[in-house]
Amino acid sequence: MTVRTRIAPSPTGDPHVGTAYIALFNLCFARQQGGQFILRIEDTDRLRSTAESEQMILDSLRWLGLEWDEGPDVGGPHGPYRQSERGDIYVEYARQLLDAGHAFKCYRTSEELDALREERKAAGQHLALKPDDLALPEDEVARREREGWPHVVRMKVPTDGICVVEDMLRGTIEVDWAQVDAQILLKSDGMPTYHLANVVDDHLMGITHVLRGEEWINSAPKHQLLYEYFGWPMPSLCHMPLLRNPDKSKLSKRKNPTSINYYRRMGFLPQAVANYLGRMGWSMPDEREKFTLDEMMAHFDIQRVSLGGPVFDLQKLTWLNGLYIREDLDDDALLEALKTWAFNEAYVREILPQVRPRVETLSEVMPLAGHFFSGLPAIHEGSFDPVKLEREPLLKLLQFLVWRFEVVPAWNKEALLGEVKALSAHFELKMKDFLAPVFIAITGSSSSTSVMDAMAILGSDMTRARLRHAIEVLGGVSKKQTKRFEKEYREL
Ligand code: GLU
Repeated sequence: MTVRTRIAPSPTGDPHVGTAYIALFNLCFARQQGGQFILRIEDTDRLRSTAESEQMILDSLRWLGLEWDEGPDVGGPHGPYRQSERGDIYVEYARQLLDAGHAFKCYRTSEELDALREERKAAGQHLALKPDDLALPEDEVARREREGWPHVVRMKVPTDGICVVEDMLRGTIEVDWAQVDAQILLKSDGMPTYHLANVVDDHLMGITHVLRGEEWINSAPKHQLLYEYFGWPMPSLCHMPLLRNPDKSKLSKRKNPTSINYYRRMGFLPQAVANYLGRMGWSMPDEREKFTLDEMMAHFDIQRVSLGGPVFDLQKLTWLNGLYIREDLDDDALLEALKTWAFNEAYVREILPQVRPRVETLSEVMPLAGHFFSGLPAIHEGSFDPVKLEREPLLKLLQFLVWRFEVVPAWNKEALLGEVKALSAHFELKMKDFLAPVFIAITGSSSSTSVMDAMAILGSDMTRARLRHAIEVLGGVSKKQTKRFEKEYREL
């Protein structure tokens, strides 16, 4: 049997370090056994999936050196590798389940579903809705069908008993069927849910081992049942431990930068980031901290993964990156790394219009444009002295901007200007006064290039990281303040 693994990201945002981590382990597992590694895009959530996000995911995995054998961009014998292009396949398999009596059409409205859940809650029962709970009298089903009411297709699930799932790392996992609902397989718009599309594709793409994050454990019983219904062999499952912040909470962008774009822009080397991700819950047989991707592939053994939540620690990554720069890069390689990072024509050209109107000699360029070539600016509390705002509104302004920037749909100057205008109106500040602290947070000084252009050029991750850094420098936002801010923010 040829081992085939896959990474199946949903393109709904920044390329997450967690995606890279799972991709790395799938790649090493496959390669160590001479197998293949596939990349599949799970973009059935049409509202949240974007082509930009997909491109960023492909770019950042490739930047890390994690190459796939089959995928949407390289093709392969099991394509298409984008679920949005496989719609007919899922409809056909849902039909098979309906015909075999393993699935049913459900015409329940969302109000009815809410009411059913309320009833169960009041009776102190599990909230999972079972086929019997959802059933309607036959004539009512016929009427709704005749009148063309929207419906979904759901899978049948047992009402009680224990479902036993085998996990390569965790051994036997037991889940009470009572907790598992009659999962929707096809939505009312005919699109599949993750569960149906994932199982069908893993089967059709010949996936033999599924290594994925532990947040998917609860889906395993449904998937196992679907494999049974279809009469297909199930791939071996392995649920990897989630990455954690140093305080052991789940890695989140509120506490740590989670986008690969951030690490790239910060000037981390791809080989150091890949190496560090390889240290997440895994170690080389000789426990050495520094190893290449080839070495990891050669020595990979899934049983060396430890389940205690691996901590993604920025300081350790920074230390490791320093080792790579000092020990591995000779002058030629360092020069190349700098060029790839920011000293390249494309990037410098973006910056020229920012500096041209503001300099009289070339030697003024670097002091003026240094923030385009740096990470977090060297600011301190006193840097904000020129800003005529009390501490609380100042922190609030920066925090609101971070929150708005987390969800701004497109990162360009017009969109950012829209956010800034909306917020300055909310704070009843002139644009100039609103931007004064932002300017210091982003450029590190009170006179530099245009801050709106700087944010557009620096990108979302670096901009947000600098705003968050400014908040920290100003003493941070306390829990109480966060609550107050959130309340006001919601009312915006
Ligand atoms: N699309 C899912 C994700 O975004 C894939 C989960 C899985 O690997 O089954 O992570």
